[in-house]
Amino acid sequence: MNYSRFLTATSLARKPSPIRTTADILSKAPKTLISLAPGSPNPSMFPFKSAAFTVENGSTIRFEDDLIKRALQYSPSYGIPELLSWLKQFQVKLHNPPTVNYPPNQGQMDLCITSGCQDGLCKAFEMLINPGDTILVNEPLFPGTLYAMKPLGCNIINVPSDEHGIIPEGLKKILSQWKPEDSKDPTKKTPKFLYTVPNGNNPTGNSLTGDRKKEIYELARKYDFLIIEDDPYYFLQFSKPWEPTFLSMDVDGRVIRADTFSKTVSSGLRVGFMTGPKTLIQNIVLHTQVSSVHACTLSQLMILQLLHQWGEEGFLAHIDRTIDFYKNQRDSILAAADKWLRGLAEWHVPKAGMFLWIKVKGISDTKQLIEEKAIEREVLLVPGNGFFIDGSAPTSFFRASFSLATPAQMDTVSILLLPPSEHPSLWLLQHRWIQPSRDWPN
Ligand code: PMP
Repeated sequence: MNYSRFLTATSLARKPSPIRTTADILSKAPKTLISLAPGSPNPSMFPFKSAAFTVENGSTIRFEDDLIKRALQYSPSYGIPELLSWLKQFQVKLHNPPTVNYPPNQGQMDLCITSGCQDGLCKAFEMLINPGDTILVNEPLFPGTLYAMKPLGCNIINVPSDEHGIIPEGLKKILSQWKPEDSKDPTKKTPKFLYTVPNGNNPTGNSLTGDRKKEIYELARKYDFLIIEDDPYYFLQFSKPWEPTFLSMDVDGRVIRADTFSKTVSSGLRVGFMTGPKTLIQNIVLHTQVSSVHACTLSQLMILQLLHQWGEEGFLAHIDRTIDFYKNQRDSILAAADKWLRGLAEWHVPKAGMFLWIKVKGISDTKQLIEEKAIEREVLLVPGNGFFIDGSAPTSFFRASFSLATPAQMDTVSILLLPPSEHPSLWLLQHRWIQPSRDWPN
């Protein structure tokens, strides 16, 4: 793979920070090393002296003495070494990427820790997108990433998709406007990457099948584009066996995979990780060196301590409990939707994640309905238009998250049926199963 052809001029110009390099050396150095190198503050002057976190199994994770000092201090931009190696091993076990033992500059799998996967994705987009570049996505898509790509001035093309994710035939048709060899000519503006959320897509809840992934990966090889696999709902797949990932098929080193602890351990700790070819991961880290510097050390150590306590088995047992919870939530919202909305609205059954994407029949634009009428009735939902490349176009969809409302809230609904002649779907808003959260919608 020729990675330099994918990189922006800004990205190619990035150089390692000499100070950050000493932080890496320090993190692996013996305790006897006398360091006058980094501008790290002296932790004895930090006012926090200890912390303890109680885990659901009743055990306690304590931060005292050297550990609390470490937790409050700067750390390497890649991520703290013990968490990096835990995660690398775990990725290999889960996905067995063919690139694990490739030479470093020829696509070898690498991993870095980011402040949630949003941080890593945003840096990946800035690494790859020049104004005028062609990017492939499947809408509707997560506004957090759409709004990170859009200002970079790229030409975003929608690839047709259905409840099983991207339709390979649709992708083939879009790609047929180029010849495979056009990727060698930058003026031809062949797609640089395909961005997709393969499991429990936000907002549709749709998941891409393994067979379709194989076909899409072959097209990526033929037309030489990268695949950004944004997979925050990987651990929230409701049925097993889980679908194989793009990372597991990546014989070329063309997949950048985004993972996160946000949906399973904590969203506020802001810990995610990016896996992909070393050349690209290194570039993301160079960006981190001069922006966020590193993901929060305390957060990383909290997760590391937890993973050490649990082991892989304990983590996966927690995942199973989490899946049971969300599956139950999903079933509750589906039961409420079936009971009250049949005939008035349409939806697909989410296979993963926390979202139900609802199409209201007979309404061409849900924006006013959701932003005015719903809020008047103290119900918060997300209108569909923000999930499309052209956010100004009307849409009859809206997104309901089933993560926070209790099954009782979803079920105990006050129904005020309006005469169909007035506004057939207004009564949707009477339903308390629609997320009554004051949280920022994610
Ligand atoms: N991608 C998608 C599809 C998401 O839904 C989210 C969170 N809502 C993110 C990325 C960002 O997650 P994180 O909290 O890890 O930054």
